[in-house]
Amino acid sequence: MPEPGPSDWLSSHHEPGQTYSQFLSARRNRPDRVRKVIYLQPIGEFTGPDAPPMEFLRRFAQAYFGVEVTVQSAAPLCRDEITERPATSRTPRQLLTTDLLKVLSRELPPDAFCRLGLTMEDLYAGNDWNFVFGQATLSARVGVYSFARYSPQAAGVSMPGTATPLLRGCKVLAHETGHMFGILHCVYYACLMNGSNHLAELDAQPLHLCPVCLRKLQNATRFNALDRYRQLEGLCREGGFADEGAWLKSQVRAIEAAAAKHPAGPV
Ligand SMILES: [Zn+2]
Ligand SMILES: [Zn+2]
Repeated sequence: MPEPGPSDWLSSHHEPGQTYSQFLSARRNRPDRVRKVIYLQPIGEFTGPDAPPMEFLRRFAQAYFGVEVTVQSAAPLCRDEITERPATSRTPRQLLTTDLLKVLSRELPPDAFCRLGLTMEDLYAGNDWNFVFGQATLSARVGVYSFARYSPQAAGVSMPGTATPLLRGCKVLAHETGHMFGILHCVYYACLMNGSNHLAELDAQPLHLCPVCLRKLQNATRFNALDRYRQLEGLCREGGFADEGAWLKSQVRAIEAAAAKHPAGPV
């Protein structure tokens, strides 16, 4: 991964990373016969042009993790339980993530592996934070993330040609869900599991996992790599993620070529 710039995540968060063997020996949740569904929980209003297509997110998460994903019916914001920080000239009104996580952890469905809240409201994680894209717990099987900052209007900066609100939303969805599988921030390669402090850093991250993090996820869900890449490639085409789709296509071709050479080898 490139050297972090002064405002990038690793300049302000000194993280050692997590090797594959550290991941294996860590206490972590993994899907099993009972807890096997990822629930997406819309929170608050989802209206206007920036509202994400929920069914696309569901299919994306299902292909990414190889686990059944269900969208729950939208829940109203219980304002008396969630701390709000009033809008300033620089930030809109924000909701405190830790309160949202508490609310989400109540009423976890019995078959939930994890539950990820989605909201159009901006989020903060405590008084030291300007904002966060999202936050997830490593052990409590809940997470939350926001769609408030992905549109060009909200970002206040021009977007690189390939970054769209939907691609950004898919990245944060997969990143936060990755944490709920016990995957810590990655410091080895440019990877979806890199920490991210701002939109340019998020845009620079790939949608895919590096070899270390991919192996962690494969250990957790036992997905078939070729099927996974094929499904994700189709979804990237549908979502208009041209660069990500091209990368996935190259992976599919590489695995197919390797399988043709070694027909009995694992895929
Ligand atoms: Zn993270
Ligand atoms: Zn990684």
